[in-house]
Amino acid sequence: MGTAGRKIVGKDVETIITMLRKLYCDEWLAYYQYWLGAKLVKGPMKDAVMAEMVQHAGDELRHAGMDADRIIQLGGTPPTKPTDWTKLANCAYDAPDDPYVKVILDQNIAGEQCAIKTYNALLVYTKDRDPVTYNMVLQILQDEVLHEEELQSLKEDMELMVSRGNR
Ligand code: FE
Ligand code: FE
Repeated sequence: MGTAGRKIVGKDVETIITMLRKLYCDEWLAYYQYWLGAKLVKGPMKDAVMAEMVQHAGDELRHAGMDADRIIQLGGTPPTKPTDWTKLANCAYDAPDDPYVKVILDQNIAGEQCAIKTYNALLVYTKDRDPVTYNMVLQILQDEVLHEEELQSLKEDMELMVSRGNR
């Protein structure tokens, strides 16, 4: 823990640690959902969707690392058990049990929308309270916004391909 680094955050530091611990769990679940989904996905544009999902999985794991590092800097401890992930996460884990590409895309789009909402809540909370966490959250939020758009654009292409192919 950095003592002066923690001190500048002031009395709200515990609230920020709690929010970061929850987001850390969301990232591991998002990572796993993408990582396994990329292996199972089937249907039109499978290869493009798979490549995007592998990239997103890597981003989510990197975000988990950023959240963990910030929790530790603030004097907290990241959740230590995988069983904590589903208990503490803000967003639902959607198992890729149906491998059809549209279903997989919809699940991950919903995941990104939840991530955008929860990171934005921490962004608003840390503004004028904790500039270091604010800056980190802003970087992550930019990735999540990009992720959502990439998946929605893949879904659009996939639907165009399917509807034109059927004519
Ligand atoms: Fe993420
Ligand atoms: Fe994401």
